Amino acid sequence: MSTTTSKNPYTGKEIERYKNHTKAEVSEIIDKADKRFYSWRETSFSERKKLMLAAAAELKKNKQEYAETMTAEMGKPISQSIAEIEKCAWVCEYYAENAQNQMQDEIIKTDAHKSYVRYEPMGVVLAIMPWNYPFWQVFRFAAPALMAGNIGVLKHASNVFGSALNIEKVFKRAGFPDNCFSTLLVGSDAIEDIIKNDKIKAVTLTGSGPAGSSVASIAGKNIKKSVLELGGSNALVVLKDCDMEKTIETCVQARFQNTGQSCIAGKRLLIDVSIEEEFVEKLVVKVRELKSGDPADEETYVGTLAREDLAEDLEKQVNASVKAGAKIVIGGKRQGAYFEPTVLTNVTKNMPVFTEETFGPALSVTTFKTAEEAVELSNMSKFGLGVSIFTKNIEEAEKLSFQFDEGAVFINELVKSDPRLPFGGIKESGYGRELSEHGIHEFLNRKTIFIN
Ligand code: NDP
Repeated sequence: MSTTTSKNPYTGKEIERYKNHTKAEVSEIIDKADKRFYSWRETSFSERKKLMLAAAAELKKNKQEYAETMTAEMGKPISQSIAEIEKCAWVCEYYAENAQNQMQDEIIKTDAHKSYVRYEPMGVVLAIMPWNYPFWQVFRFAAPALMAGNIGVLKHASNVFGSALNIEKVFKRAGFPDNCFSTLLVGSDAIEDIIKNDKIKAVTLTGSGPAGSSVASIAGKNIKKSVLELGGSNALVVLKDCDMEKTIETCVQARFQNTGQSCIAGKRLLIDVSIEEEFVEKLVVKVRELKSGDPADEETYVGTLAREDLAEDLEKQVNASVKAGAKIVIGGKRQGAYFEPTVLTNVTKNMPVFTEETFGPALSVTTFKTAEEAVELSNMSKFGLGVSIFTKNIEEAEKLSFQFDEGAVFINELVKSDPRLPFGGIKESGYGRELSEHGIHEFLNRKTIFIN
């Protein structure tokens, strides 16, 4: 019997041992999901809306319960776990209110008596999701998918199976019909067969590049639509006319929230050389104030990383960069799955903390002399998720925004996801969009209707 064990990264203690689904069980779950699709797609928007609002209410009502499991499974500070659950309620409410409008028929004038595009659900969509936002990553897929009339089948990361089952519970408690949303307790070795299953119509993955590449290849081979939301190495571009105090506050949040484990975190601080010294000095004061500790403690801001091997990876990146000439101005040490909030200066374009994604609380600092150089440094990344620009000259920043190879440019703000705005990247950050009208349209069949 194959099992998956979840372990608390802060205490090191085992939380639970889950019996993995067998191939036969997986196939049965997918069969039931597919069967459900044909009745679910017939339900009215108002019926789906009622259920989705009930899911939002359920999330709000039992946020503590859901948040505690997340915190135990992956070390996210409890206050941030609660905020994540609340954000999930928001995305449910957003799509409950907007899905119908977003899926309105689109009339197109032709020589026909009437011609239009009708947006129709595709069927069962497989979601392969990561552990860094165990609820949010799933809900931003599930809310639009279910409102559109699709069915969701989740393969969650192996360290957060408790949260995966909790998400299934949210939809059950909200009153959704059985099998609208199911969880598969399987490892990633089961994915190929699942994607090949005729009843799986499309797949979405959030995670690392290698996982995305493998899933996209299998989906491609089987001519199935895929959406990929992969890594990022966002730059925080600080121009010399920025509001320094506000910028520092935003940069600290951009890098250190969620203990640095976010695809859209600001990982590379690019700063005008003329203000570097003062900026870094003040930044370090703020970083020192961040409270590390037990993730279950409400006062904690920096928890542990989700697994010890992830902290070890970060340690290697930091050490190799120091060997190549970077300077640690604060932090730099690891203890088990915990990694100190770290700032590295003297970072150049060939160092691992610059060229690779750092998935933890380590901020690299690189200087530039001109805005053109800042753009060049930012664009050197193989990723293209987003960038933040800090300046008082908004007009200049808007002009500059054209030059960044990114899915998003945020001016005087950290890159963040919002149900109302499309979210996703270019280059090795993936393709397709989540959230907003763009997100719901990813898994719809645009059916052309022509009436003569
Ligand atoms: P992975 O990409 O390995 O895990 C994400 C999800 O993909 C999990 O559900 C995982 O399942 C699954 N998966 C992994 N490999 C495959 C595969 N070959 N085929 C199908 N599914 C697969 O992330 P890691 O946990 O290994 O983290 C490594 C790095 O990935 C991080 O340091 C970070 O750089 C990046 N990452 C980016 C995220 C983002 O938000 N964009 C989120 C998480 C990680 P299982 O757990 O069973 O292996």
